[in-house]
Amino acid sequence: RIYAYKGALDIPMRGTRGRDLRAMRSIDEALTIQDDHLFIEDVDCVALANRFGTPLFVVSEDQLRRNARAFVRAFEDRWREGPVRILPSIKANHALALRHILTDEGMGCDTFGASELAAALRGGVPPDLISVNGSGKTAALIGDAVAAGARITIDAARELPLVEEAAHRLGKRATVRLRLRPDLSELSEPTDFSGDEISVAEATRSYKAGIPTDDVIALGRKAISSDDVDLSGIHVHLPRHRPETGIYHHMIRALVELLAELRREWDGWVPREIDLGGGFAVRRDPTGRLLPRLAHRTELAPTIGDYAEAITSSLRSELDRHDIPVDGLALEVEPGRSLYGNAGIHLARVVNVKREALPKPQRWVESDTTEMFLPDSLIEHNRWNVVVATRPDAGPIGPADIVGISCGFDVVVPSEPLPELDEGDVLAFLDTGAYQDASASNFNALPRPATVLVHGGEAELIKRAETIDDVFGRDMIPARLVAASASKEF
Ligand SMILES: *Cc1c(COP(=O)(O)O)cnc(C)c1O
Repeated sequence: RIYAYKGALDIPMRGTRGRDLRAMRSIDEALTIQDDHLFIEDVDCVALANRFGTPLFVVSEDQLRRNARAFVRAFEDRWREGPVRILPSIKANHALALRHILTDEGMGCDTFGASELAAALRGGVPPDLISVNGSGKTAALIGDAVAAGARITIDAARELPLVEEAAHRLGKRATVRLRLRPDLSELSEPTDFSGDEISVAEATRSYKAGIPTDDVIALGRKAISSDDVDLSGIHVHLPRHRPETGIYHHMIRALVELLAELRREWDGWVPREIDLGGGFAVRRDPTGRLLPRLAHRTELAPTIGDYAEAITSSLRSELDRHDIPVDGLALEVEPGRSLYGNAGIHLARVVNVKREALPKPQRWVESDTTEMFLPDSLIEHNRWNVVVATRPDAGPIGPADIVGISCGFDVVVPSEPLPELDEGDVLAFLDTGAYQDASASNFNALPRPATVLVHGGEAELIKRAETIDDVFGRDMIPARLVAASASKEF
């Protein structure tokens, strides 16, 4: 049976607490099949569905910690020139309990906007390990960031005077970095984000992020000579356009070429830190696989070690080629999906199975979740790997569309080979720990699901489900409308 986009991950069985290893098969480090049920760590997913209800997001604390440690180890082993800092992107999952776990693992944070800065600070992130990224920063956000002592990654020339003003007012020196827009014209392969064959180069060119290169020379000079700011480094981020590591080689070559030019313009300025963003794929990589063009891509994405190897070796050789000193240079990365993704699964229950024979055989597995709770089905054309938690070993009898409860087409997974299923069966959608809860919506006035954290054999609620009262909690009905509708006769 096939799990890693339809091919089992070959991961050695981890040590378990006295269980019969022969009765247990592993899907990955967190997921196993035991007693004919799907388990996450030492917890039966069917028991989770019974106890907490469905739909339900479930996150493995142990897997999140393993991923965090894998990032630290992979980059620290390969970057000896200076410190390594991992700044997980909180937009992938802003559950505060998860942020506390990452803080405990010593991780910094990539934030976007005032509420993510608040999430990072509430999650205990040391301010000097926060990068306040993003375009269109308000003066208030910049003021909060400077007051907290967070680093600000400047996205446009407009932001520098706002930082200087806040620093001056608060009597502080603000640390800033510059988000650059290197020339990525070489990246001519299509981005996985689009069904049309738009190149990565074109997609990045039209993406708003970063300081236009025409502005950056003057801006950097001002920052370097300013008493109110300390220009510590540079930043670049490519989202997950394609899974292969080669993309980072091109990105780093273009970045360092731009850096070399800036260094000449800025009297030999050298960055103390280089932040290379995120965009690393999850291993089973669901992104784009609903697109006909990518439906047949079956290989696993690179490992964290593969990404670390490509990044550190390219960075070292490009800096060397341009004679840019690297001694003490801090390397930062901002994983989002690759850190949270495979730590999470989403559980749903089968409500009904509906069939139609003519004009074309059709089987709909009606579940109690929706693409509105797994929105990357729509946004990034994700095709989720599915395990039937109640009968993981049952053989497929043919394809079925797993559909959801919203009024749209709401095909959560199309044409999935599935066994005979009944009302009450539990489905698990894998690799849903990043971005799904964070971008779920209340379409159809649906209350969003709870999140449960699993640690060994324990399970705790870390985010309660919304109630119908929550859904209508922001509504305000003017008294005259209440009175009018109450007195209306039908
Ligand atoms: C979204 C984002 C990330 C994380 O992206 P992933 O594809 O989830 O790894 C990192 N850095 C910045 C600036 C981002 O906007």
